[in-house]
Amino acid sequence: MSRGLKGLVEKVLSQGLCTSCGACLSLCPYLRSWQGRVVKVHDCSLEDGRCFAYCPRTEFNFDGIEKKGVHQPYQHAEIGSFRRVLMARAKDSTWRERAQSGGTVSALIDFAIRKKVIDAAILTLRDGDSSPKGQIVMDREDILNHAGSSYVSGPTLEALHRGPWEGEEKIGVVGLPCQVQAVSKMRASTLEKKTPIDKIRLMIGLFCTWALEDEPFRDFLKKRIGNWPALKLEITPPPERLLKIHTTGGLYIVPVDEIRPFIRKGCEVCSDMTAELADISAGTVEGIDGWNTVIVRSDQGEKLFKEAEAEGIIESQPLPMEHLNHLKEASLFKKERAVKNFRNIE
Ligand SMILES: Cc1cc2nc3c(=O)[nH]c(=O)nc-3n(C[C@H](O)[C@H](O)[C@H](O)COP(=O)(O)OP(=O)(O)OC[C@H]3O[C@@H](n4cnc5c(N)ncnc54)[C@H](O)[C@@H]3O)c2cc1C
Repeated sequence: MSRGLKGLVEKVLSQGLCTSCGACLSLCPYLRSWQGRVVKVHDCSLEDGRCFAYCPRTEFNFDGIEKKGVHQPYQHAEIGSFRRVLMARAKDSTWRERAQSGGTVSALIDFAIRKKVIDAAILTLRDGDSSPKGQIVMDREDILNHAGSSYVSGPTLEALHRGPWEGEEKIGVVGLPCQVQAVSKMRASTLEKKTPIDKIRLMIGLFCTWALEDEPFRDFLKKRIGNWPALKLEITPPPERLLKIHTTGGLYIVPVDEIRPFIRKGCEVCSDMTAELADISAGTVEGIDGWNTVIVRSDQGEKLFKEAEAEGIIESQPLPMEHLNHLKEASLFKKERAVKNFRNIE
């Protein structure tokens, strides 16, 4: 079987399994992002291609993926290997006001840049009218402009390959579990690295149960809220399960079941809810507003988190046991769903 573009088309693109993470874009002229999808614009006869090697949906072996900085084998546990799980938030309310939940992710990226742990970070811009996309960010104002969640997945990682880079030696990436998997595959790949993959020093992963397809969700929003720009989207925990859309024209509320048809098929075969290969993973704390659940995984992650706490950037508390148990359950549920859905495809 081809391990190049032909194989990528057969195993991923034609099966609708692409998550549009961006790992295969801007590597060659034959793949393009179009309306939130990755499309092939020309055939390629290469037998071994980076597009296939970096894709999180071609084949994935957690044990075989080099996990830089984590000096322990990958653990087949509900939420992967970790040093500690806690509840945290940014101390400065400026972050929390603009962020999705506790602002831990944005505050840590800002701290990492100020401490020169990284020179720049790849974040995802949620632009009202266009698909989310990866941007290279270097200062606080820009980090604030990228805060908040887009429930549509977009080609964030294309920014890594596309640049423009201006001599930055240390790069941070904030991404969904599929994007963290793709970066881990890039690092482990033996193919020649023509883009600054080896300069990635920090990966902050977001929890993710699923992400939405760009175009159909955009059409749905337009019908529901008209032309009001959506300022923030939030999903409330069960049993309520509502999508709250904050717009300049007021708050709109729709049951999450109405947006389920727009979930990407590629998310239904994903077994990773908590970005298990990141240095630090972050999600919300169900039922406790304004805080993040944080999983500290690697040496770098631990060092950064400890320093950020010591310097008063982040505050933390133990995560109540019932929340940890619930997180493990939800993560396991995603793994089981992935196996079941994958069997249906094969
Ligand atoms: C598609 C999606 C699904 C999610 N599902 C869950 C879930 O099921 N359970 C849960 O607990 N948490 C989930 N989250 C994570 C949650 O929404 C917050 O991102 C997380 O709690 C961090 O909060 P924060 O306040 O620290 O983030 P902020 O400080 O607001 O920073 C958020 C960061 O996320 C990046 N970002 C936003 N949208 C995207 C995107 N589409 N792709 C890549 N990066 C992006 C931004 O660039 C920003 O740097 C999901 C997030 C997304 C994007």
